[in-house]
Amino acid sequence: MTDQADAVREIRINPIVPSESVLVSTARGMRPRKEEAPAPRDTRKHVDRCPFCTGNEQLTPPTVASWPDDGDWQVRVVENLYPVLGDDSVSSNLVFGLQQAIDGYGRHEVIIDHPEHGIAIHDMSEAHLYTLVGMYRDRIRALYEADERIQYVLVFKNFGPAAGASIPHTPSQVIAMPVVPENVYNEVIHSRKYFEKNRQCIFCSLIDEALTFEATIYDRESGAVRRQFSVGQYVVERGRHFVAIKPFASRYEWEIHILPLRHCSDFLGISDEEREDLARVLKRAMSRLDAVIGGAQYNFFLHSVPHNNEFSNCHDSYHWHLEICPRTSIPTGFELGSGLFVSTISPEEAAEQLRAVELE
Ligand SMILES: [Zn+2]
Ligand SMILES: [Zn+2]
Ligand SMILES: [Zn+2]
Repeated sequence: MTDQADAVREIRINPIVPSESVLVSTARGMRPRKEEAPAPRDTRKHVDRCPFCTGNEQLTPPTVASWPDDGDWQVRVVENLYPVLGDDSVSSNLVFGLQQAIDGYGRHEVIIDHPEHGIAIHDMSEAHLYTLVGMYRDRIRALYEADERIQYVLVFKNFGPAAGASIPHTPSQVIAMPVVPENVYNEVIHSRKYFEKNRQCIFCSLIDEALTFEATIYDRESGAVRRQFSVGQYVVERGRHFVAIKPFASRYEWEIHILPLRHCSDFLGISDEEREDLARVLKRAMSRLDAVIGGAQYNFFLHSVPHNNEFSNCHDSYHWHLEICPRTSIPTGFELGSGLFVSTISPEEAAEQLRAVELE
């Protein structure tokens, strides 16, 4: 798609967490990655032996929460049968030499997004996604309140085998953790530093920039146009309360971030009106991804300020968001060894393709 002549080859620094960077190299030949084969989607509505399908509730641990409370459920939460973190261990953190271990206490729940077996997020109705987002909010709140040792509650979804989903009826998951995950910690701390210097939330600044920024970089000698950044170049979808952006330094080729336009550090602060708009923007962003990369396999996760006094001064500086990371290739030794993500399509080109999709 890109000519060798105007190929991009540059290292882009993540403006929020500068230690994270990505090598954007669109030149042919720079393909250190192996393409991930698109996974055929299981589109069956009901599967007899599937523990997450309606009518098979006895195959899962008991219901923790559901919506609606009685009658046919639309969203249902159960304990994870194979939790990565459990509630039962008492706190006795280990330190020996340089090695440190923190007890794996916590909770691991499964949110069955939809009673229908093979349905993808973009096929769900906006009303359903509104309910699902509400369930995310309710479970995060409940898990924080249930145990004061909990440092972070992570909501995420894996879709497709390349994204680690083990069942075609893919649920969302909630993990209440005894530590603040490093990704969140880095974002919170770096955005706090930015705020101390600039008295501004860096996420708000990035949104403003994405919505209004325009720049032309000229060649100093010839005066020819070297690069042009235009208005809305990174905006994939815009709602009344949310915007979906293709990050300038995207780690994954088709990565999209969804952020509230209103500054808010904590996802739990979402209003019902905002939740409606998030459902719409999420559905449209996922539809665009599906149209462009077909059978998208992805992870998405929510980043929100941790409920811990240590971060009580980060409400002005942090801005919650949803990160969607489609998995289209397998990281290679170069990426794992260098910590440098490689993107073989430029974020500008990817955003353009995503925006070009016609939705009704
Ligand atoms: Zn099922
Ligand atoms: Zn902000
Ligand atoms: Zn984040």
